[in-house]
Amino acid sequence: MSARIRNVAVLGSTGSIGRTALRVLRRHPDRFRTIVLTAHSNGDELAAQVATVSPRFVGLVQNGHRAAEGWHFGVEALVAGATHPDVDIVINAIVGAAGLDATLAALEAGKRVALANKESLVVAGSLVAAAAARGGGSIIPVDSEHSAILQCLSTRPGAEVSRLIITASGGPFRTWPLEKVRTASLADALNHPTWSMGRKITVDSATLANKALEVIEAHHLFGIPFDRIEVVVHPQSIVHSMVEFIDGSVIAQLGVPSMELPILYALTHPERIVDDGVPRLDPVAMSPLTFEPVRHDAFPALALGVGAGRAGGAAPAVFNAANEQAVALFLAGSISFHDISSAIESALRALRATPGEDRAALLAADAAARQHVQDLFAC
Ligand code: NAD
Ligand code: MG
Repeated sequence: MSARIRNVAVLGSTGSIGRTALRVLRRHPDRFRTIVLTAHSNGDELAAQVATVSPRFVGLVQNGHRAAEGWHFGVEALVAGATHPDVDIVINAIVGAAGLDATLAALEAGKRVALANKESLVVAGSLVAAAAARGGGSIIPVDSEHSAILQCLSTRPGAEVSRLIITASGGPFRTWPLEKVRTASLADALNHPTWSMGRKITVDSATLANKALEVIEAHHLFGIPFDRIEVVVHPQSIVHSMVEFIDGSVIAQLGVPSMELPILYALTHPERIVDDGVPRLDPVAMSPLTFEPVRHDAFPALALGVGAGRAGGAAPAVFNAANEQAVALFLAGSISFHDISSAIESALRALRATPGEDRAALLAADAAARQHVQDLFAC
């Protein structure tokens, strides 16, 4: 990377990743300038961020009470922000399939996308790859597991890779008896043992749906077939993932559970720079590091999602949308923890034959899955 200052767009700046990204960016004014901010509906926090960052473009999807001068409103603001002509790097920290169009547009416009929004790749992996190929954009993952894999791969060709081993914390219910997991409360699900994150991904980590999204994400990012991607539970969240090579060597990447480093690395890759805000690892304090198999009976969402990934077509979009809808209902207190995986299973069964070649078909599959889950619990 040259010494030139890179202009950065932060989409989803008011979220967990967005706020951490702004902290990382603020530590490196000699390298990065934040020129675009977008958020969904938190106009007050967005205004506070605007006051400190002074961006050139501000987007708010839902304009509630505020009509700030010069801001852009509505869902169109996401693509406009992502394709702003002065932007070099787009940090996509939007949650859910709502982030897809910004990813596609940024890649199409030749930007580097620092991708936290894994749902983009899950919903439309091949469209994302096609947009990057057409527009010359590239994706650098922000997800800690995928940042780890990227770092472990170094520049070795895919033919030398025999296995990706993605670690999972196991979530708050890792050791709970099956029956207790099924009726776990919202407060229990939001009490993640190692990571502090937004509510949707925190619930996804409790069901292990997040790990299914990550297996599909890894498949698309690194071009590794599903039968060579494994998941292992690692409760300490220190080993962020591993790559096994054909000679049997396994390379792992370690760090404390913090998104500061994956965000920083997505901005500087392949370079590494000094950053005092990244917490350092003390191996002795972190001991012991342990590994366990996944309990598939307690966490069926993982196998459902990986199965959808293998099936391809619209299935991953259906998996993702059914999960988003079910998690929204769980967060609203309307359904039980177990209902989340049942709803996903039901949607996948009902929408098995849904076509999924292009964006319109995938968005239709997404909408049908949300409706299916809504109808399941309407009474
Ligand atoms: P969050 O809920 O804390 O923040 C989401 C952000 O997206 C907010 O700024 C919100 O305004 C915006 N947003 C929400 N809905 C939107 C919509 N419909 N249109 C436009 N903007 C919208 O979520 P988060 O935890 O920061 O996660 C963001 C993404 O990063 C997710 O895809 C998540 O899976 C991924 N991720 C998060 C973490 C983490 O540590 N939080 C780690 C790895 C990956
Ligand atoms: Mg992750």
